Amino acid sequence: MDSPRIVIIGGVAAGPKAAARARRLMPRADITIVERGRFLSYAGCGMPYFIEGKIKEVNELICTSAGVPRDSVFFEKVKNVKALNRTLATRIDRKAKVVEVVRVDSGEREILPYDKLVIATGGLPVKLPINGADLKHVFYLNQPDDALAIWDAVHSGNVKRAVIIGGGLIGMEVTGALAANGIEVSIVEMLDHLLPAALDPEMAAFLTKHVSAKGVHVFTGEKVQRIESDSVGNVRKVITDQREIPAEMVLLAVGVRPNVQLAKDAGIEIGQSGGIVVNEFMQTSDPDIYAGGDCVEVTDVVGGRKIHWPMGSAANKQGRVIGDNLAGRRSVFRGTVGTGVLKVFDYNVGRTGLTEQQARTLGYEVVTSLCPSPDCTHFMPEARLVLVKMVADAKNGRLLGIQAVGPGEAVKRVDVVATALHFGATVDQIGELDLGYAPPYATAIDVVAHAANIIQNKRTGLARGVTPYEVKAKLDRGEPFVWLDVRTQREYDEMRIEDSRIRLIPLGRLRERIAELPRDQEIIAFCKISLRAYEAQRILQEHGFENVSFMDGGITAWPFDVVRIT
Ligand code: FAD
Repeated sequence: MDSPRIVIIGGVAAGPKAAARARRLMPRADITIVERGRFLSYAGCGMPYFIEGKIKEVNELICTSAGVPRDSVFFEKVKNVKALNRTLATRIDRKAKVVEVVRVDSGEREILPYDKLVIATGGLPVKLPINGADLKHVFYLNQPDDALAIWDAVHSGNVKRAVIIGGGLIGMEVTGALAANGIEVSIVEMLDHLLPAALDPEMAAFLTKHVSAKGVHVFTGEKVQRIESDSVGNVRKVITDQREIPAEMVLLAVGVRPNVQLAKDAGIEIGQSGGIVVNEFMQTSDPDIYAGGDCVEVTDVVGGRKIHWPMGSAANKQGRVIGDNLAGRRSVFRGTVGTGVLKVFDYNVGRTGLTEQQARTLGYEVVTSLCPSPDCTHFMPEARLVLVKMVADAKNGRLLGIQAVGPGEAVKRVDVVATALHFGATVDQIGELDLGYAPPYATAIDVVAHAANIIQNKRTGLARGVTPYEVKAKLDRGEPFVWLDVRTQREYDEMRIEDSRIRLIPLGRLRERIAELPRDQEIIAFCKISLRAYEAQRILQEHGFENVSFMDGGITAWPFDVVRIT
């Protein structure tokens, strides 16, 4: 069949990608896209940057790089694809192989016959069932009209304070965008740290310090109860279970769920995660119907489970695979390794694979490293810090994931690990990678390899690290131990942890002052990043100290209070 009738429901990422690929492979296919909204094939990921003001016109998110709007005319003339916007698909009749649609503006109904159908209906923002969620200036951010409405509110002159409910990807991106417009932002997150699905607590704490330093109020472990207005319906405050936060604007960003009602009504199988079940060819339980993007569930390649992974990166890849398979090629989408990156003020944030918390929940025995490092050689003026946390399977050294946060180049590190995860690499193999080095780009042993080497050293018993949270738990329990700071006196004077257990012995003097340390007590060493502390651990072991370790990441990764003398 070289001229099949293909109907695609959903016209943003997965749908148009499938259409474009199918067209390139099947010049004679009859391809129709049905899209409920007015915009087609837009870059939704750019919406926070439009709100921020970095992108001047929302049209830029809808145009090609050559400045041509991707509208129905574009699809007709350039792609030879019929794109019906403002058209809602209301029913799929699998037996008759037709889709019923209705034109949103005229109410006119139409029947579209298909040989192959693609469902790319995307996701829907999770609604919060609280009073006040429907007030004016309470927004969701899902499509360009939402971004335009937020932009209007920001420029109305009436919004001085905003509350973002939900500290996930969208909440964090919009926080930066609103703050850039001079708005005082508060974030309320129900779980105990920001980006809870993406980062472990100590990585999130590092980010929270940065966000707070930018004037954002961060309230984690707090649940919103209602939003209140003044007498004419304008938002005035958000009430949580712990406080009242004054605000003239609220963004609800508490997640995205797969939009599957149409598929469900047609009897197509829905998975446990709530997404449409597809095989590796992106075929649903009906072999003539494909599905892709935010409406499906996919395989988590690292964790081996089915998950909902609503990312544009995945939607586009899946669309391409669908286009191939519509044309009879056998392309596969194996799944996701869970890569996500974002910019939060001046920090780059990225993650791929499993966090430590996720790995433990899945039953892995894990080993981790926490590694602060300059992103290029320290003597280069452009060197910036990046904090990396790597997670591996303690039993076999298989790499499980990485998180990277900081002003430095974090995303490159995440992409290296995402590639390695895709091929099932071990930490030993990461240490062997031939990564590029010149002073402006990296360190001779890149932080990714360094993080892997630490895990290797831990697995072979050479290095004994304890995490900052383990140290904090010891402090909270009032356990006696020597907290050995092996930095220089100058470093100590500039910044230190205030605690009676701290003993300052710079590494260079450790051998001569070793008698000052008790042999019958636990010793936990640290320095700026804990490289010197690792050496201190080895020196002390060499001298017969048995209960000695270093604190992962040193004072740089210590997520709790430090004293700074500037
Ligand atoms: P959608 O983009 O949701 O499109 C589905 C379309 O289907 C919708 O337009 C809808 O109107 C239409 N539709 C639904 N039902 C019907 C029906 N019955 N009839 C007709 N039409 C219908 N991802 C990243 O990878 N990186 C990022 O940086 C990133 N940033 C983001 C920032 C924001 C603010 C948002 C909201 C998302 C971001 N994402 C990001 C996620 C990314 O935008 C989505 O994963 C992607 O758009 C999903 O594409 P999709 O085609 O599956 O679905």
